[in-house]
Amino acid sequence: MRDAMASAEVGDDVYGEDPTVNLLEEKVAKLFGKEAALFCPSGSLANQLAIRMLVAPGEELISETNSHIVRAELGAAAVFSGITTRTWESDRGLLKADDVLKIIKPNSGPYLVSTTAIAIENTHNFGGGTIQPILEIEKLRNQTKVLGISMHLDGARIWNAHIASGVKLAEYGKHFDTLSVCLSKGLGSPIGSLMLSSQEIVTKARQWRKRYGGGMRQVGIIAAAGIYAIENNLSLLNLDHKRAKLIAEIIEKVSPSLIDANSVETNIVGLDLSEFQITAKTLSDELKEEGILTSALGPKYLRLVTHFDITEQDVAKITEVLPRVLKHALVS
Ligand SMILES: *Cc1c(COP(=O)(O)O)cnc(C)c1O
Repeated sequence: MRDAMASAEVGDDVYGEDPTVNLLEEKVAKLFGKEAALFCPSGSLANQLAIRMLVAPGEELISETNSHIVRAELGAAAVFSGITTRTWESDRGLLKADDVLKIIKPNSGPYLVSTTAIAIENTHNFGGGTIQPILEIEKLRNQTKVLGISMHLDGARIWNAHIASGVKLAEYGKHFDTLSVCLSKGLGSPIGSLMLSSQEIVTKARQWRKRYGGGMRQVGIIAAAGIYAIENNLSLLNLDHKRAKLIAEIIEKVSPSLIDANSVETNIVGLDLSEFQITAKTLSDELKEEGILTSALGPKYLRLVTHFDITEQDVAKITEVLPRVLKHALVS
């Protein structure tokens, strides 16, 4: 990847003249069956540009209650675009079309807020890497398209969903007006995400990217890492998924209240510590002392993510250390 970056051909991408960025954009648009793509410095920017294109100020985007767009982008939709949000609840972030259909309020007239777009996260990060069923996506699409409601996919981890489910990227792409995808998560690029849509919408988003200060110059050195990641690292995600499952099974043996290993489908292992005295932060600190890095994402929610920098030796260490530290936490 570093070699690909060092030897990348570059140009000024603000003028659309960086051949490596152009190649990456064409390549990713094609993979998802979209007309065009826009390279962005972050997934948050790709999400925000996309929903800005779909929802006018004072209109409403609806999303799952623990989605990244709602919880982890610091209110950007409201701050930058005047978009209001409402949310539906779910188990592990899992999409059920009926949950969404129950709360949509399209064409609400001059006195009430109108729903104009729905955002779906796949895989669902805070849900524990949950894969969204393609049949539910399809059902939601069919029932909302006729109402004039658009759909956006927050596909930061769509690569994981694709590898684990076998559903083609273009099959996911087909059901959404806009998509965001990240190169900087499991694919292992240092930086970079793309926003995908029709040519018309991407052309408009390109102006907004510049307005937000996200137009980058000779950024082919980073785009080259993205191309490398798609060509070489996508197929490695399977290993992350296998290891996450193995880790989940080991944890479940310590206490089934911590995790249902059957629910681990991709590279995220989310531990529910609500039946334990210990907080996620303390457990995370204890694991760090042992050289295992985790995220305390809630007072009682600890997230472990497998990734391709982990070696077989690391896996052996995790399977030894985790049960020991957890058993200790269980009794203390
Ligand atoms: C990481 C992530 C993003 C984008 O995050 P950035 O840090 O802005 O690149 C968006 N959605 C989900 C679900 C994510 O996990």
